[in-house]
Amino acid sequence: MIALEGYNFKDKKALVRVDFNVPLNDQFEITDDTRITATIPTIKKILSDGGSCILMSHLGRPKDGPTEKYSLKHIVQALSLILDVSVKFADDCIGEQATELAEGLKPGEVLLLENLRFYKEETSGDLAFAEKLSKLGDVWVNDAFGTAHRAHASTAVIGQFFKDRVCGLVMQAEIDNAQRILEKAERPFTAIMGGAKISDKILIIEKLLDNVDNLIIGGGMTYTFTKALGGEIGNSLLEADKQELALVILKKAEEKGVKIIMPIDNLIADKFSNDAKTQVVGRGKIPAGWEGLDIGPESAKLFAETIRTSKTVLWNGPMGVFEFPNFAHGTNTVAEAVVQATEENNAFSLIGGGDSAAAINNAGMGERVSYVSTGGGALLEYMEGKVLPGVAALS
Ligand code: AMP
Repeated sequence: MIALEGYNFKDKKALVRVDFNVPLNDQFEITDDTRITATIPTIKKILSDGGSCILMSHLGRPKDGPTEKYSLKHIVQALSLILDVSVKFADDCIGEQATELAEGLKPGEVLLLENLRFYKEETSGDLAFAEKLSKLGDVWVNDAFGTAHRAHASTAVIGQFFKDRVCGLVMQAEIDNAQRILEKAERPFTAIMGGAKISDKILIIEKLLDNVDNLIIGGGMTYTFTKALGGEIGNSLLEADKQELALVILKKAEEKGVKIIMPIDNLIADKFSNDAKTQVVGRGKIPAGWEGLDIGPESAKLFAETIRTSKTVLWNGPMGVFEFPNFAHGTNTVAEAVVQATEENNAFSLIGGGDSAAAINNAGMGERVSYVSTGGGALLEYMEGKVLPGVAALS
């Protein structure tokens, strides 16, 4: 794998797969530019060497070809401002215009291609489409860790058309930080798993049981555990077919000496709404017609104590429906505790993408943890020990 730092891009046109899949509001304004700013050091290094950049990305999940809503033209202005370079835009990612613009690109210039997913060939990993894209650049740089777990045309298949395949700085940092957690975690090591479903997280939870000292389980997935243990959960989230698995996890944890910490109380609501009526009840005591939307205050305290005294913290998934401010307390308390562990206990803290990254950034604490991953699914798969096609294509 070629590292970006050691590669000289002078007079080269670098075709860079980035992850500019940023959230846009109804006015097509970017509401969180984390993914763009993350890629800036990679782009700047190429430009400062005297190379040029052809950036390619996907945005959203367009189903029927070109769609205004998913056009990458919406980010040109913001990207130009952040980079302090006037970014050119090709309104197709292949074809005559893209080829002409790429050919005319001079050192120090940047071209952004239109959304790759306007072609279904991107996600199907079409060889001919990948070859067409490859013609635009002299060297391929993959900096899109967030899609590295997909064998798409631009993230993996394209690699075979280049002699030089370079690992971007975001990709490198993501791999290094995941490795640090997996191989060099200082103890005590606490993993915090939350979010909606056990089924999405089961493999990573099983893998983590080999490494961690404490496993904190919060969010919607706790109710499947509680139900499996014989508790009452009312209308809370339940994956009925995963109850047995939940018990298997608890047993394995015990065998491996991992301390499982689950909520001891819940903030429950009479409907799925921010302005629902609420009350706090103990674990497994949720009455019919009510649902758990956050961990309770005692659980938040309990979780925070364990997190604060840890030396390594991995966090994936919110503790409740944090999108509703009235049910964000548990998630915010965990975010604060992760920051305290980092700042006061010198812990290494990795926030595992997706909603937990949004939660910590919304709370303005993204800069106060060791690393916020840009990849949700990709990070989990990497940590599960899977070979990611986007990483494999670089070797
Ligand atoms: P995930 O993508 O699996 O990390 O799940 C994140 C989502 O889980 C967020 O949108 C949360 O609103 C949701 N979530 C967390 N806790 C609960 C809960 N107790 N009930 C329903 N949804 C939840």
